[in-house]
Amino acid sequence: MRSTASILHLDLDAFFAAVEQRDKPSLRGKPVIVGGTGGRGVVATASYEARVFGVGSAMSGREARARCPNAAFLSGRFHAYRETSTRVMEVLRDLSPLVEPLSLDEAFVDLSAADLPDLEVATVTEAGERLRRRVQEVTGGLTATVGIASSKFLAKVASELDKPDGMTVVPPGAELDLLRPMKVTVIPGVGPVTAERLRRAGIHTIAELELVSEDELVRIVGQAHGHGLWQLARAQDSRPVLAERETKSISVEGTYDNDLNDRKLMEGLLTRQAKDVGTRMRKNGFSGRTVSIKVRLHDFTTLSRSSTLSSPTDDGATIGRVARSLLGDLDTTGGVRLLGVGVSGLADWVQEDLFGETADEEEIEVVLPEPPRRSWPPGADVVHDDMGQGWVWGSGSGVVTVRFETAATPPGPVRSFKADDPALHRLEPPVES
Ligand SMILES: [Mg+2]
Repeated sequence: MRSTASILHLDLDAFFAAVEQRDKPSLRGKPVIVGGTGGRGVVATASYEARVFGVGSAMSGREARARCPNAAFLSGRFHAYRETSTRVMEVLRDLSPLVEPLSLDEAFVDLSAADLPDLEVATVTEAGERLRRRVQEVTGGLTATVGIASSKFLAKVASELDKPDGMTVVPPGAELDLLRPMKVTVIPGVGPVTAERLRRAGIHTIAELELVSEDELVRIVGQAHGHGLWQLARAQDSRPVLAERETKSISVEGTYDNDLNDRKLMEGLLTRQAKDVGTRMRKNGFSGRTVSIKVRLHDFTTLSRSSTLSSPTDDGATIGRVARSLLGDLDTTGGVRLLGVGVSGLADWVQEDLFGETADEEEIEVVLPEPPRRSWPPGADVVHDDMGQGWVWGSGSGVVTVRFETAATPPGPVRSFKADDPALHRLEPPVES
């Protein structure tokens, strides 16, 4: 904990849904649900209009439909979210070089590295308000909620207090007064299991938690979490804001219009990507020790797993073997929409015979479920040769219904086409790099 309120946490409000409402004027002010469109999908983000009906993140699509049948259910446009996120992160980096993104819509900013005259409450409050206005400008109207406090923990707690489109500054010295009445679950890492253990020990609030000795807490929640919990209950958190460091890496990834469910197919794709990574590494004369995979689930949760080898490699078969074993640890039920393989920590030398064997890799045949260009997921961007740009309102039985509007137009008309109409095209997102 610092002596100044100099850590800022920014959280964009209902981010995915807000981007959709920006780009689809007819959906502004209406319930919008991103995710949950497929049979087994879950909700990624619900707009505030949908939250009124009790729809929330991670709810099954089926339950969301039951609660809010009139919502627009969209499959999501990751490229649009990422592009908007990039603009927000640039604004944050204009304020301070120390920015730590947590996800597409959330980041910490260290205001002590910003160009501010001082770190008084009035000064950081003004900086926070300016930042919120700037975010709104560069995103085409998206709102963010900001928390400013003396630690990461408190800044994050503060940014939850005035959602949406608000701000809370916790003056130094006021941290414990703010925390004490709160439930223990506001502490990061206190999930249902820990909360239940604490509840059985009669501990519900942070005020109650503060009265428990460290030894006692270790006994209740275990060695691994006891000490950290004891500290956070006292608002003690000295974690620094860590700016992203760029590591040199080579990676290959692919996005899939239809969620992949077949594990063998995923392994086949990873194997092929690993081979491509190896080829590119050899062409560039690079090798690296850390192999990672990236898996984006149907609900946009993005998982990364990596494994560091004892010596560098540029061998596609080796990279593929590590990638497949990393995939083996992930739960991909519900489907996968992006897969990628990368190698980082590049060195300029290679040690042969990494695993002491060069067994021939089994070629796994790769057949994608359907050519991706002709599918029409709800919400996807399309362009019609005569009508111009719009988005998929719905599709089925060989018919696609499109609403012709963009962020820059008023709400537009709806037209239906045959699914194979040659005049209708998906607007392809930029290729992921
Ligand atoms: Mg958010």
